[in-house]
Amino acid sequence: MTTLLGCIADDFTGATDLAGLLARSGVRVSLRLGVPEEPPSETAPFEVIALKCRTAPVDDAVAECRAALAWLKSAGAERFFWKYCSTFDSTDQGNIGPVAEALMDDLGAGQTIYCPAFPENGRSIFMGNLFVGQQPLAESPMKDHPLTPMRDSNLMRLLEPQVTRPVGLADRLTVAKGANALREKLDSLATVGVAHVVVDAVANDDLGVIAAACRDMTLLTGGSAVAMPLPDLYRADGSLAANAPAAAVPDLAPGAVILSGSCSAMTNEQVAAYGPAAPSLRLDPLQLAEDGAGPALDWLAAQPAGSNPLIYATASPEDVRAAQEQLGVAEAGALVEQALAALAIAAFEAGIRRFVVAGGETSGAVAQALGLSRLDIGTEIAPGVPWTFSRVRGEDIAITLKSGNFGDGDFFATALARLEE
Ligand code: ADP
Repeated sequence: MTTLLGCIADDFTGATDLAGLLARSGVRVSLRLGVPEEPPSETAPFEVIALKCRTAPVDDAVAECRAALAWLKSAGAERFFWKYCSTFDSTDQGNIGPVAEALMDDLGAGQTIYCPAFPENGRSIFMGNLFVGQQPLAESPMKDHPLTPMRDSNLMRLLEPQVTRPVGLADRLTVAKGANALREKLDSLATVGVAHVVVDAVANDDLGVIAAACRDMTLLTGGSAVAMPLPDLYRADGSLAANAPAAAVPDLAPGAVILSGSCSAMTNEQVAAYGPAAPSLRLDPLQLAEDGAGPALDWLAAQPAGSNPLIYATASPEDVRAAQEQLGVAEAGALVEQALAALAIAAFEAGIRRFVVAGGETSGAVAQALGLSRLDIGTEIAPGVPWTFSRVRGEDIAITLKSGNFGDGDFFATALARLEE
């Protein structure tokens, strides 16, 4: 089917978040891991390309995003969405502004909007200032982020050094008046040459107004939430068939495996909650350094069919530090990622077709090992974490990739149950 909206996300979990929110409408959404090498085929009405360019050098990020744009155009898309983090993670050098400007140039777009607001998750914008919960961005924990410390909360000031054309604001007083008022404001800013418009949003209803006012813009930019109303708007005007089907749930043999490499507080809780219900094995990076993944692979092979085992490296901050002191941060992480990736392949070869994976980097390692390049988005398990369907060596699989702090304590059991509904 022709693609209606082509989306480019600057990191992997951001892409799943966006894809999951779009799929809430029941429409088919397909997520590509990187720019596909092949030309588009069997495309979905909503296509999301996940890149890894948030902190890449500006030129590399721009080149990757332009390649993604070209692919999405060839899939038939005429409208596009540039997705970045709801905390506007970037430096003075970019990459949010330079990518937006390059995409505008390629599309001949004179104006775009910037709306990273996600009120449900405590990200709101007022008078161009971004808040995280009740704190201005620059007073939130984001001020100490290791790669993109955010030391200003004003989105216009953050954006200005990143772009060459004028930056403006459509504030909440305009948004509160509705879509027509916002459209008029954007038009009047365009007549004085404002190409980059920050748009305030403090509540979910604001996002509906913004999406309605901007739905025909060639390029929209923002966090995932402002894109959420688009499928229903496209349905309402007939550009998307009312009965456009969601991804079909494949028929899968019973049995699942849970692989956890995240050490976040929430994942620690999830591992503790699931552990008693099924066979579980803890991976110790020090032991992996000595014996390799062999013993864990033997353990997995010995588990009864259908027992849905859990294998985890998830550990307390003290244990993680101890392993890192002995092995180095990168080596400890790599040992765990390689072991979990090998276990995923072994599970697949043993006939397991359902995979629950915890950890952003861990998900990347497992997805790469299984050779995944395309995921069809299925039901949502927790906000921002959907089941997805893909194919490995010609076989259907279901896989969910959960980043660190997502999901609640029962996430693993909930995920397995949700797939059966
Ligand atoms: P999250 O989404 O919670 O950040 P990630 O998978 O992105 O999770 O990152 C966790 C990192 O920690 C991975 O590189 C993983 O291999 C590593 N890791 C997992 N368990 C341990 C451990 N016990 N000791 C040291 N590093 C670990």
